[in-house]
Amino acid sequence: MENSRPELLSLLPDELSVLMASLGEPGYRARQLFEGLHRGLPPDEMTNIGKATKEKLRSAASYHLPEVRKKLVSKLDGTIKYLFELADGNCIESVLMKYKHGNSICVSTQVGCSMGCAFCASTIGGRVRNLNPGEILGQVIAAQLDAGERISNIVMMGIGEPLDNYDNVIKFLHLVNHEYGLNIGYRHISLSTCGLVDKIYKLRDENLPIILSISLHAADDSLRSRLMPINRRWGIAELLDACREYYRSGPGRRISFEYILIPGLNDSPDDANKLADLLNSCLRADGPMPIHVNLIPQNKVYGREQADPGARAADPRAFAAILERRGIRATLRRRLGADINASCGQLRRESTKYGGAAPVPPLKELF
Ligand code: SAH
Repeated sequence: MENSRPELLSLLPDELSVLMASLGEPGYRARQLFEGLHRGLPPDEMTNIGKATKEKLRSAASYHLPEVRKKLVSKLDGTIKYLFELADGNCIESVLMKYKHGNSICVSTQVGCSMGCAFCASTIGGRVRNLNPGEILGQVIAAQLDAGERISNIVMMGIGEPLDNYDNVIKFLHLVNHEYGLNIGYRHISLSTCGLVDKIYKLRDENLPIILSISLHAADDSLRSRLMPINRRWGIAELLDACREYYRSGPGRRISFEYILIPGLNDSPDDANKLADLLNSCLRADGPMPIHVNLIPQNKVYGREQADPGARAADPRAFAAILERRGIRATLRRRLGADINASCGQLRRESTKYGGAAPVPPLKELF
């Protein structure tokens, strides 16, 4: 390992206390250090830490805040897309979205992704590595510092599959929620997954009231397995069982579903009815459960051919209306940052060379 020193941004106050004690520093310094780090201050710039301690810290631990390598600001809605560079030169993306209720950031959890979903840019080239907890947190700190405004909500919908980097994501949640740090409430944090069912059960047992978001995208196993290889491991019925159990596991648990409307493939009125049948029968079999579906217009991904280039998109409002009639809340995702390509790992693809697994085939070849 080039660097086996602990990464300061990945440590909780208790762990910083142990580190500071090993350097002969009193416990209260750990809290000061944690507070400063989470405000975006490098240890060297902290005025409440002495020179000798700074030197000891430099040799005992590492520190790196993601650096803004590129920044695109939407002229339409103020959405900001960041390309961040990590300590090892790898790049990831984060998107800062401004809503009436506050600022929300979409963070990456891995460099690349190994899930192989047919419509997604992040998985082309495979997974390069996991992000450590401090690198996930660092995106929030660096964006907040750059934008000069408080970030109050987080969605883990950037590059990577959060449940494929489970331990680091859980540690990140504890860090970002900590009262000495950014103090962002779990109910203001969503974790989006393509459906690693074993990890959904594990997450349920953590008892953290975060919002679980499921990338569903299809109402039957044959289509979902073609779009999302993970479905060949755990089918839709097993996935929805896990969702029901997650919801029933404690008060205030919320689940939402993401559904990309792919023209000619899953966006017809029949598809809407099929989706409503599926969700109602699997999720509400043993009692009521609020169900929320986010309908997302498909983003065209450069290098990925469309399933049916000639297909015309059906009216998403008609799709939403069918779900609503069947007791399912449906929202049409606003396309924030449409002019800056604010989604799906495309910026990283444009600007970095990366290794990893062989590219997955274009969408067309899967049909
Ligand atoms: N791996 C996680 C989180 C990252 S993807 C997951 O699968 O949920 C974040 C969201 O963007 C997912 O719902 C994903 O399906 C969606 N997405 C990926 N590519 C897209 C595209 N080309 N158009 C629209 N949404 C896309």
